[in-house]
Amino acid sequence: MFAIRQNLQAVHERISAAASAAGRPPESVRLLAVSKTFDAAAVRMAYEAGQIAFGENYLQEALEKQALLQDLPLEWHFIGPLQSNKTRPAAEHFAWVHTVDRLKIAERLSAQRPSDLPPLNICLQVNISGEASKSGIAPADLPALAAAVAGLPQLRLRGLMAIPAPAPEAAPEVRRAPFAQMRALFEQLRAEYGAQPAFAAFDTLSMGMSDDLEDAVAQGANLVRIGSAIFGKRHYPA
Ligand SMILES: *Cc1c(COP(=O)(O)O)cnc(C)c1O
Repeated sequence: MFAIRQNLQAVHERISAAASAAGRPPESVRLLAVSKTFDAAAVRMAYEAGQIAFGENYLQEALEKQALLQDLPLEWHFIGPLQSNKTRPAAEHFAWVHTVDRLKIAERLSAQRPSDLPPLNICLQVNISGEASKSGIAPADLPALAAAVAGLPQLRLRGLMAIPAPAPEAAPEVRRAPFAQMRALFEQLRAEYGAQPAFAAFDTLSMGMSDDLEDAVAQGANLVRIGSAIFGKRHYPA
């Protein structure tokens, strides 16, 4: 269990090396620790090693963990698929949602965000590899969705998120292509809408996981979502 502290250190070193290689300061890349399937004790250990932001995919599991960790000033990010009948707990118990890909979901999150909390930070999930089975909006439909979501009162549009299809065996240029496409979309939106007040906080490119963080950071990721490299291999209940 000392491993969590050491693993976090190793991930920070990977991030620093990747950022330096891209000519960026290491602090320009935020680390989100993805704690899905790991228990509250593991999250607490990561917190004690300096980690504040945690990502969860399953609402029920996340709420149980949050209840056990109420004494800590953690920042919770929802990164799982979100059905429209499950938006309320996401709106009430998280600081960020990375997986918005439909206006209906965004409207519900805005309507359900408690008014005593700051606006909910939102990333729009893009289906960058064009996989039929995957969530995420098609790149062609992104500008219209971004403009609509940016206008919702209890949301703050922060950026874009993607989970490119894994391609560990592919050549570096091939592996990096979807991340480069994400960066291009991000910059396109900034060029088109960046002057509008509703886009003032549009600053986040959420991409890169344990196996591809270097490729993502090389292409401009500034928030990486890392699970197994911190907490170890996940075991899903049968
Ligand atoms: C599980 C998950 C991660 C972390 O994946 P690892 O390969 O364990 O680093 C990142 N992003 C999303 C959306 C996930 O579901």
